[in-house]
Amino acid sequence: MKTTQLTPNLIQLTRLRFVNAFIVREEDGLTLVDTTTGGAADALLAAAEQAGAPIRRIALTHGHGDHVGSLDALKERLDGGVEVLMPELDARIHAGETVVEGKLPGSWPKVQTTPDLRLAAGDRVGSLEVVPCPGDSPGHVGFLDIRDGSLIAGDVFTTYGGPAVTDHFHLLFPFAAMATWDKAQDRESARRLRALNPTLLAVGHGPAKRDAGAAIDEAIAHAG
Ligand SMILES: [Zn+2]
Repeated sequence: MKTTQLTPNLIQLTRLRFVNAFIVREEDGLTLVDTTTGGAADALLAAAEQAGAPIRRIALTHGHGDHVGSLDALKERLDGGVEVLMPELDARIHAGETVVEGKLPGSWPKVQTTPDLRLAAGDRVGSLEVVPCPGDSPGHVGFLDIRDGSLIAGDVFTTYGGPAVTDHFHLLFPFAAMATWDKAQDRESARRLRALNPTLLAVGHGPAKRDAGAAIDEAIAHAG
């Protein structure tokens, strides 16, 4: 697992050179945002130990398998002593409810863990504000750190080979677009995130971008 310190409070954890999770430092410990694919629990726990604090919460941007893959293993390893937060609609999908018509693209693996809290617009997870940005999945959310304006945007964007909205096929990283549920909502979400004027753009797949506004503008210019 590759570790990149993005800000004093934000560490990017990259697994298999393709998927990111994030450690967010809070006064009471750490929030882990996303868990990457299955089999990553040990590496994620080692990264937290290196960061020098316990994981207090696991917050998920969305329910796809490459983000919730190590959730059950982490919950078990942490003896359940961790709060799990998942976006409302994606939590309902994982609970077996039909929340949208038609077939959902993307991987929705069986998850044993029931979230302690279902995230809604404006909720706060420590210093992170929950920003709904549906499209890649029905409930997809981003997390804006109100301390410094850095944004964890999940799979609204990828940055491999340049910033892109996940509404269309991208040669260097087609998987996120293939998993996207509603392309129009995805584009609308990209614009909503731009309006937040984030200071740093962190995404589920690809390196973080420090000039977040320009990166998002570039992605939106090529969207659709
Ligand atoms: Zn993903």
